[in-house]
Amino acid sequence: MTDESIEKLGQAAEKPLKRCDADFNRKVLKLGKETLQQRFWARVKKTKTCWLWTGSVDDYGYASMTVNYKHKKASRISHELFVGPIPDGLSVLHHCDNPLCVRPIHLWLGTQLDNNQDREKKGRGAHYGGKGNKTHCANGHQYSKENTRIAFDGMRRCRQCAAKTRKLSQERIETRHKKERQDLIARLREAEQLVQDFRDGVKENTKRLEAAEAKSAELAAALKLVTPAVEKYMMAIPSHDDIKILQACVKALGGGDK
Ligand SMILES: [Zn+2]
Ligand SMILES: [Zn+2]
Repeated sequence: MTDESIEKLGQAAEKPLKRCDADFNRKVLKLGKETLQQRFWARVKKTKTCWLWTGSVDDYGYASMTVNYKHKKASRISHELFVGPIPDGLSVLHHCDNPLCVRPIHLWLGTQLDNNQDREKKGRGAHYGGKGNKTHCANGHQYSKENTRIAFDGMRRCRQCAAKTRKLSQERIETRHKKERQDLIARLREAEQLVQDFRDGVKENTKRLEAAEAKSAELAAALKLVTPAVEKYMMAIPSHDDIKILQACVKALGGGDK
């Protein structure tokens, strides 16, 4: 894969999917899992040189992500996504010496021997007094006995930097959780308000219904009172047909002639 095509893919990282939105989509809207690529880009912050991992960091200070319930180095994921599979026994190593970098063109495949030689060349050897051995880490902390840990790969680790990275990672996670909690609480409040509004509406309509029923009962009572009077009145006035019959009778009896 060329630098250019990877750059293009990397543009997706400029607008990463918000983590909490993705979680919400998955857990609440059940929109299905994000793809590995989406999860990867959501945790990458591009700089002019390295692509820095903003996701979690393992005990050795390396970018890591959980894939199928297992922790995996993000540099390996990056290599597999954009370059290709990693043959057995090979490690993904950094040209840039930045354990948080996941930029494919900063990565290379090598054996543990390559890694050791590369380290010697760059003067990061694990052994004190080694050729070109650095006395301080990249951030200027001294590789004193207390501040140095020899990691599984034979490399020295600055304890201060590792602690700082762990703390930053922890803080990022806490900030994210806090934001998610706040979002959920806000949604809960909205839902509560909706329920309250609905209850208020039901109360209001019940009042109106009761008022209408009372009015209806009043009218029924009034109608009951007035009905006999109306019937009486109707009886008192002859109908149009009655008048015709009366007129016919009067005529038959020879009356009414002018
Ligand atoms: Zn890099
Ligand atoms: Zn340091």
